[in-house]
Amino acid sequence: MKNKRIIRIILVALVIILLGALFFLPRINRNEDEGKIKIIATNFPSYDIARALADELDISVKMLLKPGAELHDYDPTPQDIAAINSADVFIYIGGESETWVDKITFNEKTLVIKLINSVDLKQESPDTEEYDEHIWTSPANYLNMLSYTRALLARQFPEYDHQLSTNLSIYGEDIKRYDQLFRTTKLIQPIVIADRFPFRYFVDEYRLQYSAAFPGCAEQTEASTETVAELITTVKNQKLPYIYALDLSNSKIARTIADATGAEIRTLYSGHNISQDDFSAGVDMTVIYQRNLEALQETK
Ligand SMILES: [Zn+2]
Repeated sequence: MKNKRIIRIILVALVIILLGALFFLPRINRNEDEGKIKIIATNFPSYDIARALADELDISVKMLLKPGAELHDYDPTPQDIAAINSADVFIYIGGESETWVDKITFNEKTLVIKLINSVDLKQESPDTEEYDEHIWTSPANYLNMLSYTRALLARQFPEYDHQLSTNLSIYGEDIKRYDQLFRTTKLIQPIVIADRFPFRYFVDEYRLQYSAAFPGCAEQTEASTETVAELITTVKNQKLPYIYALDLSNSKIARTIADATGAEIRTLYSGHNISQDDFSAGVDMTVIYQRNLEALQETK
């Protein structure tokens, strides 16, 4: 009899503990970012920069673009706009894909960081007035983007100045290594990119020869037959072992050229965005640069 009572008391206590845990757990998760400085970044490069600088600090960083999604198709949802309105910092590239930002009335407390202000802009191609927004493809630019962001964050949050400097020098060293590697490593040239072309800053900075199916990264999906024929001739004449398609691409043009030439298709990472798997694994821009460095060498 006594034993039964004890068991009943223990069971009731367990139920109370379990219910208590169920009640409190979601609250703990929900409050994880409370009290932190909230940074909203639009795409992968701006997210990556904010994340690196926020290391060890009471800062939460959120990317608006979903992993794997097409940057050039992005439009903010009402939830995104609400998140931007409640952010302490908003960081974006500021190119033609992000003209939607111009329509936003920012909360006056929000620090707005526009990354194209940190580099010398280039035209997408000689026959367009449009400047190229893919500034992150060059590690040399990426260093400027990092320093620029650090300076603005340190001015807004002076108490974090020291840690921001430490974070900048740690990540800056990693990026600088790739700047050096792209200058000193022997790469396959010309680089035949059977796809859109977001690499203007990259090829100019490291003086690389290339041919691409499109002059820029606008959303064309069909290349002219003339252009495809020219690329096939280039691959055949120069006996190029590899041609390139972008990550998150349908690789249609690359397959046509590969079939006609026997060249192998390799992937170049544009860095606009990363896949869900890469995002979950915490991939940063140095991984993107490393993959491109390996893809552009004779042997991986
Ligand atoms: Zn693009």
